[in-house]
Amino acid sequence: MSTLWRNWSGSEECRPAAYEQPADTAAVQALIKRCRSSGQSLRVTGAAHSFTGLVPTDQTLVTLHKLAGLDQVSEDRKTATVWAGTNLRTLGQLLHAEGLAQENLGDIDAQAIAGALSTGTHGTGAGFGTLSTQIEGLEIVDGTGQVHWLDNHNKSDVFSAARIALGSFGLITRMKLRTDPAYRLEFVTGKESLNDVLINFKNYLSRHRNYEFYWFPYSGMVQNKFSDKTDKPAQAHKATEYLTDIVLENYVFKLFSEIARIFPSTCEKISQISAKAVSTSRKVNWSHQVYATARLVRFQEMEYNIPREAFKDVVRLMEKRMARERFRVHFPIECRFVAADDIPLSPAYGRESAYIAVHMYKGMPHREFFQAMEEIFLAHEGRPHWGKMHSLEATELSKRYPLWDNFQNLREQMDPDGIFLNPYLEKLFGVRKAAVQRPGLRVQV
Ligand SMILES: Cc1cc2nc3c(=O)[nH]c(=O)nc-3n(C[C@H](O)[C@H](O)[C@H](O)COP(=O)(O)OP(=O)(O)OC[C@H]3O[C@@H](n4cnc5c(N)ncnc54)[C@H](O)[C@@H]3O)c2cc1C
Repeated sequence: MSTLWRNWSGSEECRPAAYEQPADTAAVQALIKRCRSSGQSLRVTGAAHSFTGLVPTDQTLVTLHKLAGLDQVSEDRKTATVWAGTNLRTLGQLLHAEGLAQENLGDIDAQAIAGALSTGTHGTGAGFGTLSTQIEGLEIVDGTGQVHWLDNHNKSDVFSAARIALGSFGLITRMKLRTDPAYRLEFVTGKESLNDVLINFKNYLSRHRNYEFYWFPYSGMVQNKFSDKTDKPAQAHKATEYLTDIVLENYVFKLFSEIARIFPSTCEKISQISAKAVSTSRKVNWSHQVYATARLVRFQEMEYNIPREAFKDVVRLMEKRMARERFRVHFPIECRFVAADDIPLSPAYGRESAYIAVHMYKGMPHREFFQAMEEIFLAHEGRPHWGKMHSLEATELSKRYPLWDNFQNLREQMDPDGIFLNPYLEKLFGVRKAAVQRPGLRVQV
């Protein structure tokens, strides 16, 4: 029986015919050449934390977890080159040991660096683009087995697009990342009404390095989260912190979620109780330890990027629709803010952005709620997070990305036989992979 691959939320799985774990770039090259000559396609997985069908394949599945660790730190200490399979938690520790840190991160650190960056994973803060904007250069093995070093001076158009390419340009083996000197963050959290937050959020964004909020459906309340650089000493983990981060936000929330699953009519009440339970607290720690939070409760998620100026209207419309249709949802809605960037397939391409993420506890029906929220996002120029659930395919996506055709042309150059496509990507990109059976032949639909 072949190895079973399943993603974190359990929404996707596959049994690939071959499961490969190359340990160096030469082995990656040999693998790609072998797949190409035998007409096999291959997909690469990071830590399987995407909710969509980006990874599943019945052919060859590759993991680069043996290609991990810090390769080198530049002499000026402004960049670090890391192997693609490095897990974000390990990367944080390795950089910290060098007195360095990433300028920003998302809210977990379980992903592989290349997996996280390939879908445009983001954190929050008006001054920061998606994490892919931290890439200064990358080494990638294309669909013919050729190794390229890409950066702003070397094939800069391919480099620009390869920063968010969903594993469709090739297997990234190394990444050169911009780094900051290690820093500490003071994290402060507390509650506020949604009405006030919609008045204050721009102010918060300009005053704080990182700002986001969790909106509790049907409660009119949010939990604000602010982080700012500080010279205060890092604190040892306190018992109160464990109580909030692990016991309340995970174990108690898991219990609440089970109640909501068994008795869906309790969702609104549970959301209101969760909002009431938010207390004011603060902590100081090294940046990589502040960004990362524990996520022990499994869920499904859809997240959309919208232009920042539409944020308030979109939240109001979501609120109205929820009030009208009373969706059975108790999970907080996460609202974050990201700077514009120039990466062709970045949801934040060319615009100051807000990201809104809706979640549903694993095992509860999510389609109706996600569909209703997606209608609102799409009516406001929404672009989906590539790693999270959405319903869009090529025709609709191509209208939302000004450089869509350029991206597809570059992808065809990097992977002339379509060996990095799977059925999900074929739909997403609007191409068919008849080519894989006979290298050199490609069919556009
Ligand atoms: C609990 C949870 C919390 C999350 N929090 C955030 C968050 O705060 N912010 C956010 O934006 N997203 C978040 N996400 C989404 C997540 O960051 C993305 O889906 C990310 O892409 C997952 O990384 P991964 O290593 O698991 O990669 P996978 O999901 O395994 O793969 C993702 C993509 O990367 C490609 N890929 C992997 N390795 C390589 C490689 N070496 N070369 C080329 N392509 C490669 C794969 O082919 C695939 O297309 C979260 C997800 C979960 C489950």
